[in-house]
Amino acid sequence: MPSTSSAQSSSGRALRVAVIGGGIGGLTLGLALRRRGLTADIYEQAAELAEIGAAVALSANATRELERLGLGPALDAVSTEPTELIFRDGRSGARVAAHPVRDGGAYRTRFGAPYYGVHRADLQKVLSGGLAGAGLHLGHRLAALDQRGDVMMLAFENGAEVEADLVIGGDGVRSPVRRWITGGEKVRYSGTSAFRGVVPMGLLPSLPDRQAIQFWMGPDAHLLHYAIGGEADSVNFFAVVEGPGTWTSERWLAGIAPGEHRAGFSGWHPAVIEMLDALPQTQRWGLFVTDPLRRWHRGRAVLMGDSAHAMLPHHGQGANTTIEDAVTLAELLAAGGARDLDRTVRRYQDLRQARTRTIQRSAWATNRLLHLPDSVGPGALARRDARMARFPEDFGWIHAFDARAVVGKAAAEDSRAA
Ligand SMILES: Cc1cc2nc3c(=O)[nH]c(=O)nc-3n(C[C@H](O)[C@H](O)[C@H](O)COP(=O)(O)OP(=O)(O)OC[C@H]3O[C@@H](n4cnc5c(N)ncnc54)[C@H](O)[C@@H]3O)c2cc1C
Repeated sequence: MPSTSSAQSSSGRALRVAVIGGGIGGLTLGLALRRRGLTADIYEQAAELAEIGAAVALSANATRELERLGLGPALDAVSTEPTELIFRDGRSGARVAAHPVRDGGAYRTRFGAPYYGVHRADLQKVLSGGLAGAGLHLGHRLAALDQRGDVMMLAFENGAEVEADLVIGGDGVRSPVRRWITGGEKVRYSGTSAFRGVVPMGLLPSLPDRQAIQFWMGPDAHLLHYAIGGEADSVNFFAVVEGPGTWTSERWLAGIAPGEHRAGFSGWHPAVIEMLDALPQTQRWGLFVTDPLRRWHRGRAVLMGDSAHAMLPHHGQGANTTIEDAVTLAELLAAGGARDLDRTVRRYQDLRQARTRTIQRSAWATNRLLHLPDSVGPGALARRDARMARFPEDFGWIHAFDARAVVGKAAAEDSRAA
């Protein structure tokens, strides 16, 4: 059996860390460990790192970490910083609230790191470029895991068998590692679905404030978009509707009838309709979440990212909190956590669970706010608008978070208590 990786374990021999999944979390963790002089082996089921989904918005809680990992210039070169964050009435197009982002350097000044729109493929290239392929094993789909004593036994569909001291499930929302840890916690359909696409800017003549990140809000639906790419020449959009009531397919995607994607947006602003119609839409994405888990670890296996806390994307925080998880784990392991893995996984859960739970819950509440029907009356709509005007004050805590500083503070508390 091949062993997996090196660092110091309690026995003084090389610590073997196996990460399942080479997604945003797995790649970030591999890189963060390497930068701290530790290593991990990353096992990814795909034969190559293909683009999953179109784009991602990265906020300061993640970009400060990616900059610390030395990826700042590479990321900046392929990203767009939105000018403003704007909330609009989806039908009239009226600006309900607006907050500067790139304009006046407002966001960087406040949070100490940038906000970026980036192609997912570009983010993956930046992360895997930083890793330079070290420890990455493609074409390895985890089939089974088990623990014997302190050793984790991993079996892959390609026949490979591996032993590890610590297994980290960065294997996404349908995580087999989560199944082993929790005994079968399932993903849950949220009752909402989405249409999405990346549209060349030239196909959007009616779009105002073209380089802003914008939410268009209306009854039972909203559309979010932001510009992406180093040249800001494309717009990534994500249009969410209530329903269908149930989701029977095992897959994320379900076919739709011609024109079905527009049904929730009848009478909306031309910029919204142009975006929805710019590309042929043949399917909808079901939006799935996991309910907050009671435990993120069992024995020598622990979860991170979507496997631990898949959330609705309305705060744009799935990938960002995943990057926080990865950095937290790497910092704990680098700060001597390799010597007491049981304690380290408990400490990691303590540091991550409450924050990610709060964001998961807040994303549900934001869905309701973005989809308020007219029947709630002008008073409730005005209260929604007032909340959007307070967005930076109410949600600044998400972006201000500094994962490394939190681990440092916890370590200082632990050493005072010892
Ligand atoms: C439509 C949409 C829009 C989003 N927009 C944003 C956004 O703007 N900002 C944001 O922060 N987040 C966003 N997210 C969320 C974000 O994409 C996820 O939270 C993030 O990708 C989670 O990272 P991860 O590493 O946990 O999982 P993933 O990136 O999903 O990676 C999991 C990896 O595990 C691999 N894997 C799975 N099973 C196995 C197995 N058995 N063996 C080996 N490998 C396996 C998979 O192939 C995959 O590569 C969005 C999500 C969706 C659906």
